[in-house]
Amino acid sequence: MQHVDCLVLGGGAAGLMCAANVGAKGLSVLLIDHANKVGKKILMSGGGRCNFTNYFIEPHQYISGNPHFCKSALSRYTNYDFIALVEKYQLAYHEKTAGQLFCDNKARDILEILLSECEKARVDIRTKTSITSIKKASDKGTGFVVETSLGTVKARQVVVATGGLSIPAMGATGLGYDIATQFGLHVIQRDPTLVPFTCSGKALDVCNALSGLSLPVSISCNNHSFSESFLFTHRGMSGPAVLQISNYWHLKMPVTVNFLPAISVIDVLTEAKKNTPQRKLVHVLSDVFPKRFAQAWLEYTLAEHNIEAYQDKNLADIPNKNLTLIADGFNAWQFTPPGTEGYRTAEVTRGGIDTNDVSSKTFEAKKVEGLYFIGEVLDVTGWLGGFNFQWAWSSAYCAAQAIAEENKAH
Ligand SMILES: Cc1cc2nc3c(=O)[nH]c(=O)nc-3n(C[C@H](O)[C@H](O)[C@H](O)COP(=O)(O)OP(=O)(O)OC[C@H]3O[C@@H](n4cnc5c(N)ncnc54)[C@H](O)[C@@H]3O)c2cc1C
Repeated sequence: MQHVDCLVLGGGAAGLMCAANVGAKGLSVLLIDHANKVGKKILMSGGGRCNFTNYFIEPHQYISGNPHFCKSALSRYTNYDFIALVEKYQLAYHEKTAGQLFCDNKARDILEILLSECEKARVDIRTKTSITSIKKASDKGTGFVVETSLGTVKARQVVVATGGLSIPAMGATGLGYDIATQFGLHVIQRDPTLVPFTCSGKALDVCNALSGLSLPVSISCNNHSFSESFLFTHRGMSGPAVLQISNYWHLKMPVTVNFLPAISVIDVLTEAKKNTPQRKLVHVLSDVFPKRFAQAWLEYTLAEHNIEAYQDKNLADIPNKNLTLIADGFNAWQFTPPGTEGYRTAEVTRGGIDTNDVSSKTFEAKKVEGLYFIGEVLDVTGWLGGFNFQWAWSSAYCAAQAIAEENKAH
């Protein structure tokens, strides 16, 4: 049987960060992961450049059953703490839209930093290692006995950092939720999020026809709005606008898209009808939208409302009430997505281990001494833009400090 102070389950962003910080306090740490290498999601993140944090992190950018839960960790290990770590390694990075920080070079650089920190802290990392069972040590002391494909491991503390369910092909499993359930913690319903919407019928046809086109929009659902770009795809709708709003979307909820947030399309059409009544509708719309979009979206809008095609008619021949319907199709298109692309492409999992059962200061399960949960496995989901990695860093760091304190006390 192998004895360690701390056993970390999962070698993603949170697991590596926690292991390095526990090891740095002089404790023995074993990190195990069933995948053939650690940090796979880091490597694929941010289009290969890893959006590792954001200059503007606020608790309201996280979705959780308890919106206060994330506050303590985010304030104790901030975005600037992680930026300091990145700068310690002289890693070049840049800001993209709205404070999002990306590596200049490649996502691997972030993983290298974490691996280097783990190496300095003498963390023992074992990949291709599965976990068969976990139970409380039966002897009087605290701790856990974990059966793994490496053999039996006894650890004073166990940190569950096995992430969410998104991208099963990258090694995602529900182990963390199973462990939580086994020890009596509540697990909140999970859904794929930061995910494209699927479409059907005429909406799918128009998305398909416009596939590859991207437009700046404002998108709203469930009392939340984002101004980001919207991308038509062969399967439906994607792009940052759709991913952001998917965090707030639940089945059967309508989503509203304004394809021209700064301009009132009805004003444009009314003005044109007054000044140039002989112009065709599609030509006027092409003044303010890309031509390809104006044409396809007009056809779709007309078909949606079962109104006759106006392609060949002059503005003067179109009743004002129909102009209003058409304008709304561009400025306030309402759509109820039949679903999302699911865990296959979702960046994260919404829901997870109920934060009411975990301490927001230490990340220890309130009723199970020595058992910690960090990162995405918890019911804390960030916006697109580096927020989810920041949550992994912050929760991992805070758990590591608590583990070190706890060991000092023994
Ligand atoms: C395509 C993509 C791009 C993303 N881009 C960004 C981005 O740019 N910025 C951002 O902030 N967020 C991004 N995210 C989200 C971010 O990657 C996650 O929120 C973050 O990785 C969560 O960290 P974690 O350590 O909790 O979980 P993970 O990083 O998922 O790590 C979990 C680890 O546990 C291991 N594991 C799982 N089950 C078991 C098991 N049964 N036994 C042993 N080991 C197990 C896995 O192999 C994995 O190594 C992206 C996600 C995806 C999928």
